[in-house]
Amino acid sequence: MLSPRCPQCGQPLPDSSVACTSCGYDGTKAARQRTNRILTLVLLFAMGICLVGACLVFFRGGDTSRRQAIVGDLVFAAGFLIYLITRVVLFIRQRRKR
Ligand SMILES: [Zn+2]
Repeated sequence: MLSPRCPQCGQPLPDSSVACTSCGYDGTKAARQRTNRILTLVLLFAMGICLVGACLVFFRGGDTSRRQAIVGDLVFAAGFLIYLITRVVLFIRQRRKR
């Protein structure tokens, strides 16, 4: 089995949970930053879904208006739910860091 290597300088790491001894690269810190970036992307994605749902409700018209409004409501609710969950997860993570 290959020992973990530093993604920054390529030196073998004694343990993936500790910082690199040759360049100081901190794997856990980088992983945390990566997860925060992903959560921020999910947050933006949820906001986009909310916007699509709101547009469906707002720009409805004609015979399909009623069904479109219901779909719009559901899409908006789903997006808002994802937004809330992601927001709570981010909040908990930021509090734990301190
Ligand atoms: Zn390194």
